[in-house]
Amino acid sequence: MHAIRIHATGSSDQLIYEETTLPEPKAGEVRVKVTATGLNFVEVYHRKGLYGLPMPFTPGGEFAGVVDALGPGVTGFKPGDRVATASGAGGYADYALAPASLLAQVPAAISLEQAAAAMLQGMTAHYLASTTYPLKPGDTALVHAAAGGVGQLLVQIAKLRGARVIATVSTPEKAALARQAGADEVILYSQVDFEPEVQRLTGGKGLEVVYDGVGKTTFLKGLNLLKPRGMMVLFGQASGPVDPISPQLLNAKGSLFLTRPTLGHYLLSREEFTWRSGDLFGWMASGKLVVRIDRTFPLAQARAAHDYIENRETKGKVLLVP
Ligand code: NDP
Repeated sequence: MHAIRIHATGSSDQLIYEETTLPEPKAGEVRVKVTATGLNFVEVYHRKGLYGLPMPFTPGGEFAGVVDALGPGVTGFKPGDRVATASGAGGYADYALAPASLLAQVPAAISLEQAAAAMLQGMTAHYLASTTYPLKPGDTALVHAAAGGVGQLLVQIAKLRGARVIATVSTPEKAALARQAGADEVILYSQVDFEPEVQRLTGGKGLEVVYDGVGKTTFLKGLNLLKPRGMMVLFGQASGPVDPISPQLLNAKGSLFLTRPTLGHYLLSREEFTWRSGDLFGWMASGKLVVRIDRTFPLAQARAAHDYIENRETKGKVLLVP
């Protein structure tokens, strides 16, 4: 089979398409013949070496496809089942492994491409809006990079929960997508300073929550926009890691809460996984949640796909297809 392998960290040139061996499922694992793999910003961090993974490795945790083989002890799945995961290993490949406990059966109403596009960013948007800070009617949330993969889904789920959403994006084309997702207000943060603009839009009252996946360029200003006891949810660092701060700053800015969450800690049980993936599939099947597939690249062109997301061009989901 073919896979993308990374032998040394660095630029997208390190994504090498090569022949390799079929992975064998261990106890509790399922081997999936991949139909589509979701691209996620975290794979750029992995490729650059931010998380120090052992080499060589094949990136990709999110994919959908057809069950090909079962490891010892796996129940509930059989060869041929249509499945999807956000927690697999080696997804940039023709075949990849997933833990059965974090693998979902894909309902007939949803294509495998749609499932691959929804799992990771969708369950992320779900936990951010439903658990980290459970949005309710009357809340106002700021969502940065609202036309991105997580962004468009987070705006839609925040609206389903009845919140008012102020979105930031970098281009007019992305502004249109954020509005289409349901954002009440959209700020072009590449052209105007979003801090006074949010203050104006909230009548100086501030926000219950900031969802920040951009990091370095937005984080500190976001702290200035929260109401007393508001929550800063720093869930990513697309513009670079945030510099360290003193805990005292949270006191000075209004007894704020700060969290740096990650999806794995919000999928702690089969029940939690089934709840989040089930909500997503239900909303997708009923048309309440629209998952926009922006671009599809052949697996062999993973380099171009990484350049696309790093160059800030994504307007929804990017898929790799073997
Ligand atoms: P996106 O499709 O949203 O791409 C990132 C977006 O960030 C860009 O489109 C861009 O939007 C914005 N951005 C701002 N500054 C930069 C910059 N300097 N370089 C690149 N992009 C920039 O990606 P994802 O939806 O995959 O991920 C969004 C964020 O969510 C990432 O930080 C990712 O790590 C994080 N994430 C976190 C998870 C978790 O559980 N903690 C799980 C999944 C994702 P614009 O042009 O509008 O500014």
